[in-house]
Amino acid sequence: MISSLIILLVALVQTQTDPFHRERDLMVRTQIIARGVRDTTTLRAMQTVPRHQFVPADQKRSAYDDSPLPIGYGQTISQPYIVAYMTELLRPSPGKRILEIGTGSGYQAAVLAEITDSIYTIEIIPQLGNAAAQRLKELGYRHASIKIGDGYYGWEEHAPFDAIIVTAAAEFIPPPLISQLKDGGRMVIPVGSPFLVQQLMLVEKRGNQISTRSVMTVRFVPFTRAK
Ligand code: SAH
Repeated sequence: MISSLIILLVALVQTQTDPFHRERDLMVRTQIIARGVRDTTTLRAMQTVPRHQFVPADQKRSAYDDSPLPIGYGQTISQPYIVAYMTELLRPSPGKRILEIGTGSGYQAAVLAEITDSIYTIEIIPQLGNAAAQRLKELGYRHASIKIGDGYYGWEEHAPFDAIIVTAAAEFIPPPLISQLKDGGRMVIPVGSPFLVQQLMLVEKRGNQISTRSVMTVRFVPFTRAK
């Protein structure tokens, strides 16, 4: 009796402090768990990060929809399920050092920052990168480091990484990213023709051996290069 009252109170407080709590809960259950994501660390992070804070004001009501959304400059925040699936593939855990290429809104970086203190992310469009840096700071993800630049070259000063996630479609896997992956590390990257569909590739490094396998068909915005 008392415990159910406490649960009710906690739910009430959560709903009041975050009006989107229930929508997020629904998102996790119906879009993510229902499609097979099981990693509890990933699910907890998806349940925690306020996705509505990462979309433009006029998109807030759609923030928890089962789709990608525009974030300006021709870019998009990925569909929640894709963010969760890619996160799970990285096998993130506290203390792991993770590099993301394509900060965009900063949402994927925040999901990873819920799990580990060592998250590095690179964005090529300065306006998006600066806005994401500000947003991550305001939401308390001060430990996420952002750099503006061409992610093709990775982030040598902080390498090697346990995991690398690329959230833009590349025509091939940038060699610097392979060399900045730790022995035993994992990389997730959409590879294929920009503007069409791509294959989401899981790359694993063991010693000098690189194995790649395609895990899903996806559609990402193009990986661009600094001129
Ligand atoms: N992960 C983002 C979604 C990214 S959309 C999120 O959670 O919101 C892809 C992003 O990759 C875009 O912002 C695009 O500008 C960026 N991008 C494309 N090519 C890049 C490159 N070479 N280096 C860094 N960022 C790049």
